[in-house]
Amino acid sequence: MSHEQERPHPHPGAAALGNARASGSPAGEGVGSGIDWSAVRADFPLLTREVHGKPLIYLDSANTGQKPAAVIEATDDFYRHHNANVSRAVHALGTEATDAYEGARNKLARFFNVRSDELVLCSGTTFALNLVAYSWALPQLGPGDAIVLTRMEHHANIVPWQLVAQRTGATIKVADIDERGELDLDALYAQLTPEVKLLSLTHVSNVLGTVNPVREICREARRRGIVTVIDGSQAAPHRPLDIAAIGCDFYALTGHKMDGPTGTGLLWARREHLAAMPPFLGGGEMIKEVRFDGTVYNDAPHKFEAGTPNIAGFIGLGAAVDYLSGLGMANIDAREQALLAHATEALSKVDGLRIFGSAREKAAVISFLIEGAHAHDLATLLDLEGVAIRSGHHCAHPLMQHFGVPATCRASFAYYNTFDEIDAFVAALLKVRNLLL
Ligand code: PMP
Repeated sequence: MSHEQERPHPHPGAAALGNARASGSPAGEGVGSGIDWSAVRADFPLLTREVHGKPLIYLDSANTGQKPAAVIEATDDFYRHHNANVSRAVHALGTEATDAYEGARNKLARFFNVRSDELVLCSGTTFALNLVAYSWALPQLGPGDAIVLTRMEHHANIVPWQLVAQRTGATIKVADIDERGELDLDALYAQLTPEVKLLSLTHVSNVLGTVNPVREICREARRRGIVTVIDGSQAAPHRPLDIAAIGCDFYALTGHKMDGPTGTGLLWARREHLAAMPPFLGGGEMIKEVRFDGTVYNDAPHKFEAGTPNIAGFIGLGAAVDYLSGLGMANIDAREQALLAHATEALSKVDGLRIFGSAREKAAVISFLIEGAHAHDLATLLDLEGVAIRSGHHCAHPLMQHFGVPATCRASFAYYNTFDEIDAFVAALLKVRNLLL
């Protein structure tokens, strides 16, 4: 692919911020990277608060990431000093707003190693996947065609395809997982038969933490002429991500999980798809000329960005990307893997606790249940101890059906969490378990 050569790798290694924070860290908090993780944690104002009179232990980053001060300040600065609409006004504020917004697009493109004119900025993964469903799949698919999904998808990567299937007569096939929560790749490839036109799967499972080998899977699908869509919501916040190298057709992700503002996200698509796809929403910004006898659409990506965008949100997301780049995604990945290993070991010692998902490559997410205790009861009592975990179906009903449970608890870790927090979480879990059983 041509743009693989066009850009340097987006994560050249430990960055200035990391270096600036080297040394002086308490035991266990700076291991390996030279980054003082307690100084990093101090960048997150919310993490200093208390909940129910206890220090907050936030273990729900897979749901949404906390925001460093740099992100909060960037959005605040936009509204205080630059607020104007983009691409419309010639006045100074309008130019500043447009430059900042397009600057954020360029930062995102560099961060993910793709071209900025292939990045559609939108409200998040849900919007991005629906855009592919309505603009690519709806006109392309018909009776006799098939879509392949996997058992571990989020509802955002199931329901849009069901809507497409209902309207086109296409069918949906589901690739299954093994007892570790990994995809059965042989079975998946066997399902990629000639009627399959589209394969959509998650890069990282939000429930099991499984990291899918998307590069290999996309290569197999491409060899068979199948278009691939990757849901990168849970991958982008945690690991170096070179979208161009994956070889997919579409990559969707959400900004709020990578510590940016809510209501931000993007769809990356190959240029040829963006050029061929009809617009999803009509309105201002997405046109070159409107006449009652016909409208000329704008070029991609603007063709898919009707209306006023979340300008402040994307400026904040640009600041988040700067922040993450400063730490280095490889350092973040290593830190979160260490937290995951520590938490897995500690939780494995809890009597009656079952962990869902033990993939060989796994992100820092642990779904679990304790025999005899309801997930919601555990999460509610943990909240009273200041510990925020998620309980429920995690927008993955088919995965819950697979395991035969209505809900699980899920603790998810980010680089700003500490080993002490994990120990405090496990101690609180033992306490609430004893109250319940
Ligand atoms: N896919 C996955 C794997 C997710 O974890 C999420 C968010 N929980 C989504 C899609 C949807 O993201 P958003 O709500 O930001 O559109």
